[in-house]
Amino acid sequence: MQVFKTIQEVRSWARRRQNASKSIGFVPTMGALHEGHLSLVRCAKQNNDGCIASIFVNPTQFNNAEDLKNYPRTLENDLRKLESAGCDAVFAPDAEQMYSRKPRLQINFGALEEVMEGAFRPGHFNGVALVVSKLFHIVSPARAYFGEKDFQQLAVIRCMTKDLSFDTEIVGVPTVREEDGLAMSSRNLRLTPAERGIAPAVYQSLQACRDHFLKFGQAKEAVAHARALLKRHPEITFEYLELVDAETLQPVAEPDDAAHVQACIAVHLGQVRLIDNISVK
Ligand code: AMP
Repeated sequence: MQVFKTIQEVRSWARRRQNASKSIGFVPTMGALHEGHLSLVRCAKQNNDGCIASIFVNPTQFNNAEDLKNYPRTLENDLRKLESAGCDAVFAPDAEQMYSRKPRLQINFGALEEVMEGAFRPGHFNGVALVVSKLFHIVSPARAYFGEKDFQQLAVIRCMTKDLSFDTEIVGVPTVREEDGLAMSSRNLRLTPAERGIAPAVYQSLQACRDHFLKFGQAKEAVAHARALLKRHPEITFEYLELVDAETLQPVAEPDDAAHVQACIAVHLGQVRLIDNISVK
């Protein structure tokens, strides 16, 4: 597996592949890799002639300096995992390589980013869109793989790719969970053992919200029901739980309001912010 630190190295690797008509599957990550990331790599590997992952803790998408400072960084381990998953190459640049100057471009997704993550993390999707579009220009992938775990991010990236005519197919990959239902996340590493014991309540509350909504048909009541369950754990600070149209991400009131409905949640547990979502309909 080749490990690149510079944009130039990746560009010449990608050009050689393209000249040989070999398609590139791309998996952008921030490292601290787990089975969720590796399932993306396996999909990329299966459906392309070659697979490249990137590992870059992107400062422009953090709206909280502490979160950026505390984000787990485990490069050596990550490289071992990627190699055993069959990844062909890794791009692991430093911040200077990606941002030789402070970017001036601002990307705004309108209504798509006025809800949920966008509302609670101002500027987050501007940073995500900047780094992903830079990476797409560097890697020129035929396909890029994103987890449904970050549901709004996937919607934003699909929107960006369409609106800017990127020649890259965006592939969404189902969320990989621990046996007790907790969605795998790099941030789970920062949960204390006691918090880790409580964390599956987040997924359980999504399931309770879904079941209540499908049975009684009222979003407000379903959310209140799920919130009441979460209140049993004083360690959990609630941020949002929403039932949204899976395409537009706008809130729905009743099951017939959208063809596909997604339940999305964000909470704080100790020092860690956790997000998750499930399909409702
Ligand atoms: P991150 O390193 O957190 O930026 O995540 C990199 C990619 O992995 C993103 O597309 C995430 O949505 C995806 N991802 C993170 N956790 C999971 C998971 N549990 N299952 C599937 N994909 C995931």
